[in-house]
Amino acid sequence: MIKICRVCKENKQEEDFPKRTKRPDGSIIRATICKLCQRQVSKKHYKENKDMYRARDKKKNKELFKFVREYKENSKCERCGISGKGMPESMDFKHKETEIKKGRISKLVQFSKKNIIMEEIKKCNLYCANCQRIVEVERKHGHHKKK
Ligand SMILES: [Zn+2]
Ligand SMILES: [Zn+2]
Repeated sequence: MIKICRVCKENKQEEDFPKRTKRPDGSIIRATICKLCQRQVSKKHYKENKDMYRARDKKKNKELFKFVREYKENSKCERCGISGKGMPESMDFKHKETEIKKGRISKLVQFSKKNIIMEEIKKCNLYCANCQRIVEVERKHGHHKKK
C-alpha cells in the first residue's frame, strides 16, 4: 500500500512509516510521517533541546559570575583593606601558598558549581590589583622579606 507522507509529500511504501499502535482487529496503525522525516523531526527536537540546555547553562554561569562579583564587592582587600565596592573587576582571588588549587576562580566560574567555588574561595586571599602585584613579588622573593 502506498501512503503519502504528511511532511515530505512523497509517495512511500507503508513499511516506510513507523508503526504506532495496533487496532483491536490486529491491523497496524502507522504514523503519517515517514521514517526519514521522523528522524529529521527528532534531530530537530534534539537540537532545540540542546540549545535550551546550553541557554540554561549560560544562565547558571551568569548567576555564578554575579555571585563572585557580589562577593568581591562586599569584601575588602586582605592586605590593604580597600573595599571592593564599585571595583570588583580589580579584586582577585589568590590561592594561599599552602593550598592545593583546583583552578583559578575566574576559570572555575565558567563551568563549576557554587559550592565548588565557595570551597575554592576559602583557599584564597582576596587582594586588590595593587596588592596582587605586591604579593606576587613578595612570594617570588621568598617569605623572609615579608615585614
Ligand atoms: Zn516524509
Ligand atoms: Zn590591597
